[in-house]
Amino acid sequence: MAQEYDLVILGGGTGGYVAAIRASQLGLKTAVVEKKKIGGTCLHAGCIPSKALLRSAEVFAQTKNSEEFGVISGEVKLDFFKVQERKQKIIDQLHGGVQHLMKQGKIDVFYGTGRILGPSIFSPMPGTISVEFENGDENEMLIPKNVIVATGSRPRSLPGLEIDGTQVMTSDEALSLEELPKSIIIVGGGVIGIEWASMLDDFGVEVTVLEYADRVLPTEDKEVSKEMQRLLKKRGIKVVTSAKVLPETLEKADGSVTIKAEHKGEEKSFTAEKMLVSVGRQANVEGIGLENTEIQVEKGFITTNDRFQTKESHIYAIGDVIGGLQLAHVASHEGIVAVEHMANENPAPIDYSMISKCVYSSPEVASVGYTEEEAKEKGFDVKTGKFSFRAIGKALVYGESDGFVKLVVNKENDDILGVHMIGPHVTDMISEAGLARVLDATPWEIGHTIHPHPSLSEAIGEAALAVDGKAIHS
Ligand code: FAD
Repeated sequence: MAQEYDLVILGGGTGGYVAAIRASQLGLKTAVVEKKKIGGTCLHAGCIPSKALLRSAEVFAQTKNSEEFGVISGEVKLDFFKVQERKQKIIDQLHGGVQHLMKQGKIDVFYGTGRILGPSIFSPMPGTISVEFENGDENEMLIPKNVIVATGSRPRSLPGLEIDGTQVMTSDEALSLEELPKSIIIVGGGVIGIEWASMLDDFGVEVTVLEYADRVLPTEDKEVSKEMQRLLKKRGIKVVTSAKVLPETLEKADGSVTIKAEHKGEEKSFTAEKMLVSVGRQANVEGIGLENTEIQVEKGFITTNDRFQTKESHIYAIGDVIGGLQLAHVASHEGIVAVEHMANENPAPIDYSMISKCVYSSPEVASVGYTEEEAKEKGFDVKTGKFSFRAIGKALVYGESDGFVKLVVNKENDDILGVHMIGPHVTDMISEAGLARVLDATPWEIGHTIHPHPSLSEAIGEAALAVDGKAIHS
């Protein structure tokens, strides 16, 4: 029997399930079709498991180095089974929470693979869509007035570099490792690659990062990338930038992988026990029935307007499947805008330059708005203010005084164009900068917001004062 809905969402990841909750709040009869587990990549194979592992790694490294704090801990051992168990417990708890939210919102969740069949023959409304899903042997038909495609993404590899899931892995397999390797080559020094490099190094794994661009974290402000690179090297991580990995040179032996990369005009060889490929993610656009619609796919991603409608105005697409900033908070906010638009709530489009981006390595990196280079390319006459954590008492107390906060400001009108941070707990501090950008605050206003002492946030106040040469502690 076909069931009718105001909205059917394909994919119950961060984008899909948040959209479902907003739809339920707005009184829309809503169903989610999910082929694996509600919560998607972020909860089961992304943000949460990686941060749980990062935290265990950080505690391990800190405990080993606790003498600096006057804490003599004796022999420190790692029980990696327990590390994974803790990770899973956190995931399970959050998974339970999301399932509860679905029930609370009276959202129907169908477990199976959804596919758009095209304009429904059952529907009294021309142009509506049917969704078919397979659940074991059963097939069922859902007839929604609106659809949101939120099928997310999966890891990409380099052409010719085959992922075998054991010796050559992506983050999907690495998250479930039962044992740590002695050494690893990480192909790709972007966000995921650097988080893994930091985590594995903290766990005591010998890490080599091969990055194609001339710096790690190449989308961050140049000074931040440079500082990260310096700190990774200081910890003993081997970082090779401007390295073009040659997939055809991959050689696997029992217990080792070897690959060559072109670097400064030479071919260099790298060997380790395992390899992690973190070179980006590709959208899940296959097998979901797009061929039955007018929906357009460009460079592998579904194209939409700024309220996330595809070429078929009642089919929306959000999250990783549309590309852009592939982040959980972006996916969920896009879901909210799409739902509010279909419910005639007139939401404002998203200004992506207001969205904070974070890297949860040690030290952390966080940013919002334009880098200094981007601001200059856009024709702004910029001034900057920078303040080091070395002069921040709380950072010294924590024993984590590497890094800085940097503001990029329009000289003409004091608009804050971007804020960039590298250092302790900056992923929790970036929201002040995000709010400042949303509220159009000036560096003067941030500088004259009295930041508590001692706190890491003093670095933001001081960096704001530094824009006009008025920082107190420099
Ligand atoms: P997804 O979360 O991928 O959800 C898509 C869902 O659709 C999946 O559950 C999938 O099973 C389902 N699906 C696919 N096809 C079908 C179908 N045909 N029928 C039914 N269901 C289907 N982002 C952050 O903001 N912060 C972080 O710290 C962070 N860390 C990350 C770490 C790693 C290792 C990775 C891989 C990603 C990380 N991300 C992080 C990115 C974040 O996970 C994604 O941006 C986010 O999950 C995108 O949400 P989504 O809803 O678009 O897609």
